[in-house]
Amino acid sequence: MGEALLIASERLADFVTAIFIAARTRPDFARETAEHLVAANLKGHDSHGVGMVPNYVDAIANGHLAHDAEAEVLEDRGAILRVDGGFGFGQVVGRQATDLAIERARDTGVVTLGLRNAHHLGRIGTYGERCAQAGYVSLHFVNVTGHDPVVSPFAGREARLLTNPFCCAVPRDGERPVLLDMATSAIALGKVRVAYMKEEAVAGDALLDDDGRPTTEARYLYEEPKGSIRPFGLHKGYGLGLVCELLAGALAGERTIQPKHPRPNAIINHMLMIVLDPDLFGGSATFATEVEAMADYLRGTPAAEGHDRVRLPGDPEAESMERRLAQGIPIDDNSWADILAAAGRAGLSDDEIDALTSAGRAG
Ligand code: NAD
Repeated sequence: MGEALLIASERLADFVTAIFIAARTRPDFARETAEHLVAANLKGHDSHGVGMVPNYVDAIANGHLAHDAEAEVLEDRGAILRVDGGFGFGQVVGRQATDLAIERARDTGVVTLGLRNAHHLGRIGTYGERCAQAGYVSLHFVNVTGHDPVVSPFAGREARLLTNPFCCAVPRDGERPVLLDMATSAIALGKVRVAYMKEEAVAGDALLDDDGRPTTEARYLYEEPKGSIRPFGLHKGYGLGLVCELLAGALAGERTIQPKHPRPNAIINHMLMIVLDPDLFGGSATFATEVEAMADYLRGTPAAEGHDRVRLPGDPEAESMERRLAQGIPIDDNSWADILAAAGRAGLSDDEIDALTSAGRAG
């Protein structure tokens, strides 16, 4: 396998926008989705970046992704909003739902919004960052339905859940937020996909083979016989993944991964989102002072052996972004070949693909 390509982020966003437009997506939705994916790559989450493009192009073609759908309010009860995503681009309907919650929180102080039937919402931290930018604390519980489970419950050897992400964003004065944004599996499925594409081993004991034994081979998630991904943190990660399933799936989405529901190999995300004005609790000034004191206290911890320093959640993403904005986004050969093939399936000609990609390589 050759060296990974390095591609400048703006050119990558232009290329991905063109692919989605060729697949009949509205230009503004194509651009928004492309920029969300490229931002995920910039922040180091290749699992939720442009590697998803082939999946989305195929989902449009087979009717699992309604490319022009918008978020629709089903029920408006003040601080409670129920919103349907119409199986539209998660990056679009997720942002629209987040904006509805932020707008409403200006009146009600706290909002609980259930978003159901979004296609893949991508990097959930995107919505947390948006709330934090508006000055709000937010909690996001997400489940994934529509395809076979890949995550085994603690002590189980067969998959019963998906990677159900949890996110919490806490705004800071003049600084980027504290942003905890994580899959509840030991490793995000997309990271197993990236390892599979790169033909690399998956480090640690995140994966189980079909007999429930630890394995480093990503093929157990993509080829028969199928294994599973463990939950993170043993029974605790399993518990949080289940909470996401119940709050996002049973409550907001009215559909969990339980086996009576169809699994047509689509990616459907449901999200329960709580948006909260910190000024409601003792005043935002006290809150900001305490948040900053804790940030300093934690970052000042002496580093343990094998580590350079203590970070806050969200720091690794900011560091990756600085590096990749300067150096370009690395894309492995297999993923790039898949994206080029998807561009062709979407309707771009070879000449158009060449024109869109040739000048974009940073190295
Ligand atoms: P991860 O394990 O890389 O990071 C998880 C969290 O830990 C992040 O908040 C990160 O900032 C923090 N972190 C990492 N290293 C740290 C350190 N040294 N010190 C302090 N904090 C640190 O993320 P993940 O679990 O692989 O998830 C990747 C992405 O996948 C997330 O953006 C998530 O939203 C997304 N996801 C989406 C779906 C979906 O269905 N849409 C499903 C699963 C995951």
